[in-house]
Amino acid sequence: MNRKENIQQLKTETFDICVIGGGASGAGAALEAATRGLKVALIERKDFSAETSSRSTKLIHGGVRYLEQAFKKLDFGQLKQVKHGLEERKYVLQNAPHLAQPLALITPVFSAFEAIYFSAGLLLYGFFAKNDSLPKAQWLNKKKTFERIPTLSKTVHSSVMYYDGQLDDARYCLALAHSADEAGAATLNHAAITSFTKDQSGKILSATVKSQLPEENGLEIEVKAKVFVNCTGPFSDAVRIMANSEEKARISPSKGVHILIPKEFLPGKEAMLIPKTKDGRVVFVIPFENKVIIGTTDTPYYHLEKEPILESSEVDYLLETMQPFFSKMPERKDILSGFGGLRPLITAKGANPNDTKSLLRDHAVEVDEKSGLVSLLGGKWTTYRLMGQDVIDAACKELNVEAESQTKNHFLVGGKNYNSDNFKNLMNTYALPEDVAKHISEKYGDRAEKVLALTHFDENLTKRLHAEYPFIAAEVIYTVREEMAVSLRDFFARRTRFELLSWKATKQSIPSVADLMAAELGWTNEQKTTNINTYSGMISHFQTQAGVQ
Ligand SMILES: Cc1cc2nc3c(=O)[nH]c(=O)nc-3n(C[C@H](O)[C@H](O)[C@H](O)COP(=O)(O)OP(=O)(O)OC[C@H]3O[C@@H](n4cnc5c(N)ncnc54)[C@H](O)[C@@H]3O)c2cc1C
Repeated sequence: MNRKENIQQLKTETFDICVIGGGASGAGAALEAATRGLKVALIERKDFSAETSSRSTKLIHGGVRYLEQAFKKLDFGQLKQVKHGLEERKYVLQNAPHLAQPLALITPVFSAFEAIYFSAGLLLYGFFAKNDSLPKAQWLNKKKTFERIPTLSKTVHSSVMYYDGQLDDARYCLALAHSADEAGAATLNHAAITSFTKDQSGKILSATVKSQLPEENGLEIEVKAKVFVNCTGPFSDAVRIMANSEEKARISPSKGVHILIPKEFLPGKEAMLIPKTKDGRVVFVIPFENKVIIGTTDTPYYHLEKEPILESSEVDYLLETMQPFFSKMPERKDILSGFGGLRPLITAKGANPNDTKSLLRDHAVEVDEKSGLVSLLGGKWTTYRLMGQDVIDAACKELNVEAESQTKNHFLVGGKNYNSDNFKNLMNTYALPEDVAKHISEKYGDRAEKVLALTHFDENLTKRLHAEYPFIAAEVIYTVREEMAVSLRDFFARRTRFELLSWKATKQSIPSVADLMAAELGWTNEQKTTNINTYSGMISHFQTQAGVQ
């Protein structure tokens, strides 16, 4: 992913398709189009997956709650969406096995009646996933339940265990953008589409792309493409209305937050599903990188210009929700970090846009006849591939091109030769501790050797960035050179998941990462200091708002 070369390409070439937005939808659509042999540009305002796509619950699922609602409300739309999710689950797992794995989820129950109810529901869920290899749901008695989750409340009767998938959402999205780049797409992050140039009938001819990096001194590019594809998730309405001011808003953004706590509260490999909160939601408690993620919430959100960060009252809500299920409760002081994202929900006909729990999670493709803009609306992480396929089918129609989808069995960058035992070779060859070797192998897949080859030139690059975490200095160099990391937050929040694992440790490691990035990217001392202060200040703000130190 070479920024200079891609900028040159964007300046000089005319593309078949320009995809706007580098989240799961846009990066997936760009890969879909590039693997069909089309000439593609992918433009992202912040970083790849900087918004919702790095802030999900990280489940690859059909949605147990949607299945329940489909039956309770006889809602075939919800059922279709569950089926889509379960069908796509296997491709997500198969195409990047280093970044997505099966996950066992345990639903604790408090009576025999609940055990029967949830067993029946989860067996039905498995029935809709008929053609995949994940184990089916099973009931676990009290003893077996406590063997797996010893921290549960003693009042739990038994549990039902079922399987879904889990992914590292930010690195998965990056792998999509990287794979699109390797398939020929010109990808660019930190560059926003700010306006369109149109012909007399209102059809879009080109878009103005403005660099958001102060170091690029207001760089502007006029990108020409035959079709523009809007994949801006919760921000879709702004681009739709920029293309055609007569369009009406269709997205109802809904905020969801998560907190992270130490692993001791959920020591096993399995996740937990809390089937019912006081406001009728489900909450997940999920192991992630040796910590535990708890979430999520669902509230309407109206300030799209502001990051939807974790608020103190939301910490209270999530801790309270866990109360009946755990023998030892995490407290506010145990919280390591938190994050919030915005669901790009589409308002269904007749639905109340403020009741975000009732809005559709399925996707829709819209073609605006006047401007020619093709928009991909709604959807979820799990179905990103199908969403990309549907939107690029529509774009191909506009282009009058016939080209079939190639993505069902397309390995993403790092996935092809990955094996979960690869870390053992890395330990021997590079004399690495097990946790570091595992981390590098799991995050970079078959590109792990490329990361570690950097240490041949400088032994210091095997050094940890923080004594308690497996991140090493070589990753800073690699992600700048090969993965278009250009800011401190690109590295801490998305190339690695450091920011999610601990706000405190992130702050402690900012100066050393800034030194490495400054040398690679040619920052002046003044630019380095500004970048350090901005990012440290941001983390302090998150801590204050969440009431967490
Ligand atoms: C709390 C929460 C939990 C979730 N959990 C799950 C889950 O477990 N499983 C699941 O399947 N789904 C889950 N989802 C849904 C899933 O995360 C989203 O559907 C998905 O990430 C949306 O991706 P997107 O690409 O459409 O949007 P985004 O990731 O928001 O990407 C849109 C991108 O467009 C860019 N952009 C905007 N305007 C411009 C412009 N003018 N120029 C250039 N770029 C622009 C933005 O910077 C952004 O990066 C969850 C969502 C939330 C909020």
